[in-house]
Amino acid sequence: MSPRQTARTFDATGIPTAEQIHSLSRELALVCDAAGRVIWADDRAQRILGASAGHVLSELCVPGTGKKALELARQASKGEVADWELAAMVHGEATPLTFHGKPFGDGLALLVAQLLPRHLHSAIQNMESAMSDIVGLNRQIARQKHEIQQQAGELLQANQNLTESNRGILSLHRELEDRALALSHTSDVKARVISSVSHEFRTPLTSILGLTQLLIDGSDGPLNGEQIKQVRFIRSSAEELIAMVNDILDLSKIESGTSTLRITTFSAHEFLGTLRGALKPLVRDGADVSLIFEHDTADFTFETDRSKLAQILRNFVSNALKFTEHGQVRVRVGATDDGRALLSVSDSGIGIPAKDVDRIFEEFAQVEHPLQSRVKGTGLGLPIAKRLADLLGGEISVESAVGEGSTFTLVIPVVHPSTLR
Ligand code: ADP
Repeated sequence: MSPRQTARTFDATGIPTAEQIHSLSRELALVCDAAGRVIWADDRAQRILGASAGHVLSELCVPGTGKKALELARQASKGEVADWELAAMVHGEATPLTFHGKPFGDGLALLVAQLLPRHLHSAIQNMESAMSDIVGLNRQIARQKHEIQQQAGELLQANQNLTESNRGILSLHRELEDRALALSHTSDVKARVISSVSHEFRTPLTSILGLTQLLIDGSDGPLNGEQIKQVRFIRSSAEELIAMVNDILDLSKIESGTSTLRITTFSAHEFLGTLRGALKPLVRDGADVSLIFEHDTADFTFETDRSKLAQILRNFVSNALKFTEHGQVRVRVGATDDGRALLSVSDSGIGIPAKDVDRIFEEFAQVEHPLQSRVKGTGLGLPIAKRLADLLGGEISVESAVGEGSTFTLVIPVVHPSTLR
């Protein structure tokens, strides 16, 4: 007989012996009482589990599963049970068994268990670990879902807050618009009042100027020296007042936006020449100051509001002459690197303290100095010049040193931006 052939032993009926079948069977049988005490164990239960009469079922199982084993014995002693899974120690290894059971009379239970095949066991273990992974993942998903729900709630809240603040901003905006409207209305009224009051002032002031001139000329009979002095004083006060009225009118016109631009084309050199002629008379007779005009570049053509440009430079030059007792006032026209026109007036006068340089552009601001009280002025020239520079699309800057002099610089586009549109 070849080694591969299996030995065959038949009993008298010609079928395998119970012993042969038992040796291959993975089933075992036990009888125990309701408290799990083993009364009887078949030879496979003895071989596989090491069970014998007197053992308690829970001792045969893996630690931690004792309670379930006892419950199985209790239930099977009362009624039929099926598919109870219990892990027992088989040859020192935890091995799953599936139990079926039913009452065996006298409060006993007959239990039959099936040993799970090894590969099924490891498949179940894999499945269990996969299941526990899935459960873990599920928990993670549930946690993330919870977090997302929380974030969605927060987002909703933030959205509500945004909507509310948006509503707030809108209402603030409306309020601002209302105020701007009210303000522009007030500013219109102010401009109208200033304009009519100024005109009311101008008429009598012009009469005072005319009448005082007649008195000084002696048209109605000669005046004595003291009278002439007093009338001259009245005339000079009237001149100052009329200058202030004119300045206030100018400022109010610019502020209310009623000052219109008159754009014309003119040569820079010709403009400077005309300005020189108009400003020369401002140099006081016998003053130790020379008024110099210079071109730093070849001639070019301006396309802007000539009279506003002239007004700014007139203010710079008249200030420079007022606050310079010795030396020179130099007017220059040139160009900046980026092609804009640069017009500057430098003097060798008293200079302006650094703390006052920005302030002099505020209305009625004047710097304290002994010379200040001796010269005429309204404190409105520079604020007007600054607004005019804005209208021309340019800007004014100042450099000054006390006791050395000042330079006022105006930089404007050669061609007014409005003509480029
Ligand atoms: P004002 O009619 O008083 O000259 P401005 O607004 O033109 O009014 O000037 C304001 C003040 O700035 C002057 O009163 C003076 O104190 C100071 N200021 C302006 N230009 C000069 C300058 N070139 N040198 C010194 N101080 C100056």
